[in-house]
Amino acid sequence: MGIFSLLLLLPWVSALDFRYHRTKDLEAFLKEVQRNYAAITHLYSIGKSVQGRNLWVLALGRSPTQHKIGIPEFKYVGNMHGNEALGRELLLHLIKYLVENDQHDPVITKLINHTRIHIMPSMNPDGFEVSVMLQCSSTVGRYNANKKDLNRNFPDHFTTNNQIIQPETKAVMNWINTGMFVLSANLHGGALVANYPFDNGNDATIDANGVSKTVDNDVFVHLASTYANNHRTMHKDIVCHDMDFFKDGITNGHQWYKVKGSMQDYNYVWGQCFDITLELSCCNYPSEDKIQDFWNDNKIALIEYIKQIHLGVKGRVLNQKNKPIANVIVEVQGRRHICPYVTNKNGEYYLLLLPGVYTLNATLPGFMSLQQKVVLPNGAEKFSAYEHDFVFSLESTSKEPVRCPLKPLYSNSVSAVTVTVFNFLSFVYIGI
Ligand SMILES: [Zn+2]
Repeated sequence: MGIFSLLLLLPWVSALDFRYHRTKDLEAFLKEVQRNYAAITHLYSIGKSVQGRNLWVLALGRSPTQHKIGIPEFKYVGNMHGNEALGRELLLHLIKYLVENDQHDPVITKLINHTRIHIMPSMNPDGFEVSVMLQCSSTVGRYNANKKDLNRNFPDHFTTNNQIIQPETKAVMNWINTGMFVLSANLHGGALVANYPFDNGNDATIDANGVSKTVDNDVFVHLASTYANNHRTMHKDIVCHDMDFFKDGITNGHQWYKVKGSMQDYNYVWGQCFDITLELSCCNYPSEDKIQDFWNDNKIALIEYIKQIHLGVKGRVLNQKNKPIANVIVEVQGRRHICPYVTNKNGEYYLLLLPGVYTLNATLPGFMSLQQKVVLPNGAEKFSAYEHDFVFSLESTSKEPVRCPLKPLYSNSVSAVTVTVFNFLSFVYIGI
């Protein structure tokens, strides 16, 4: 068989060159991938931008169109600041890499076997269209078409956010509120660091060093470190700007500077999803001829980060008739989330935890509670979290979902010193 005939038989993605792709080209690429790899991909739009551009997502997995019990859902979101353009291209290259290596590379094959991966190359296509390459620190294109910063536009647990919620934000909120995602990251530019929640905080979360800690701080440090350590240079303490020094390439969001209304905090508080913010280039919109190098810097880190979705424990809450029970709070003793993490309609729960011994609580409020100890190995290496089901009594059925408080649980008072320091930083930085 000639080479030409052989090529005709192979699934094929048009050469994705290392350049920036405008909306039309990006859409053409995603549609072509969907056509050529229909068995493992599903292209969908979660809504439209202010100017009517689709917010495309490509899902990859063995069951790309729907959730399967026991298969956790991952997401990457790029380009929420329209002028931070590198993430958009890296995600296109990641898509190409995943589809082309499925059934060839054992790691990618297992990843696709055991995970559904949702990739949104651009959350702010309107901003991207007016951005200019090599404008490294300009704000042109950063905002959406209503001149709003999308990474300040989410409801905030700690401080009331009076911003009008933008169409792009609303679409992403609805997507997050499905409660299906377990782990995610959003890709930015302007620094080189992996940044983890909280971005905001109060006197109950902020320590003496300005770190605003979640109850899952150990997991978040591990997640950010996994990215930084697998990136070619992020962990090497590279300084992009005089005031930014990040030991080992990671930072707590608030310790860097306080942000109200960020997407990562929203994911963690309201979405049951652990999200981190990846700053991938010193220049917001780097030169086109550097994209290939950036891809090589990030490729392993992007893959290794997805694998971390298999940390911890997963399972179902069932009654004795094997019927799933939704809205059961399943949490770890000592790690009470602001909004309780609850089982979905299949009775499923997923909790990201480092290897160790934990006590799990499964509670159907006002009805029944079970407490069970688990010993967790490192599931990321096996592409599956440790499995542990709870069996409730025969008559147990799903209840109304537990309402999550929309107002802050704690007082908003932060010490005067902290306010001064972080207001100063907020003033200096335009932000991530
Ligand atoms: Zn940004």
